Amino acid sequence: MKTTPRDFLKICGASAAALGLSATDLGQLKEVLADPNGPTVIWLQGSACTGCSVSFLDRIADAPPLTAAGVLVNSSSLIYHLDLATLAGDSAVAEIEKVYSRGGYVLAVEGAVPTKFGGKACLGWSDNDPDVTFHHAVVDLSSRAVATLCVGTCASFGGIPAPSPNPTGVKSVSAVTGKPTINIAGCPTHPDWIVYVVAQILLGNQVALDPLGRPKDLFTKYPIHDMCMRRAKYELGLKAQSFGIDNFC
Ligand code: SF4
Repeated sequence: MKTTPRDFLKICGASAAALGLSATDLGQLKEVLADPNGPTVIWLQGSACTGCSVSFLDRIADAPPLTAAGVLVNSSSLIYHLDLATLAGDSAVAEIEKVYSRGGYVLAVEGAVPTKFGGKACLGWSDNDPDVTFHHAVVDLSSRAVATLCVGTCASFGGIPAPSPNPTGVKSVSAVTGKPTINIAGCPTHPDWIVYVVAQILLGNQVALDPLGRPKDLFTKYPIHDMCMRRAKYELGLKAQSFGIDNFC
């Protein structure tokens, strides 16, 4: 039986346990992302350690497709990511501009936004010589995005780069755009949470947010222990396989 995007939504949204996506879930996500008529995803990296991307890249299933990153790279939806996208240089800039002029894409931002020195502490790319600052790129691209996702605590709230003395004037994405963002907080954030939110948006579903702009399904609907992937073993009485094991948690 063919799995529809609606079925995938049920799998993703039915319970906290389902957020630990299986290879089957990833395969269904692949189907959703491969829709050439669906929104595209632009993923920018600013004042960040790239840990959220690494967390995302490390998400491995036990059968193909093995990684969420692989799903995105092989889809028609991810048109730009510094580490993952196949486009680079002028062709990447041209593609971003094409998608920007069309509008309706998903903007994922990893990292906070330096605002001092005219934003030149962090550059996005060059466009026919003038440097485009990350600050400028985030403000511009968020203006035509169907949703702006903050991947990790840096983009969501400033994170590690923002505390005093903050010489580059780092701010969160919503502080510089003046617009609400979907804050997938965490340092790094959990890869399945990124997949979950991207899937909801590509499926055209509203993502309910808590007062901090975080998806309620991920941050406030369930107690933290319900989100723990080791809880099932604990419930089965397999305590030795669930908590307190060196190099495991
Ligand atoms: Fe790195 Fe943490 Fe910022 Fe992610 S939220 S980019 S892991 S410092």
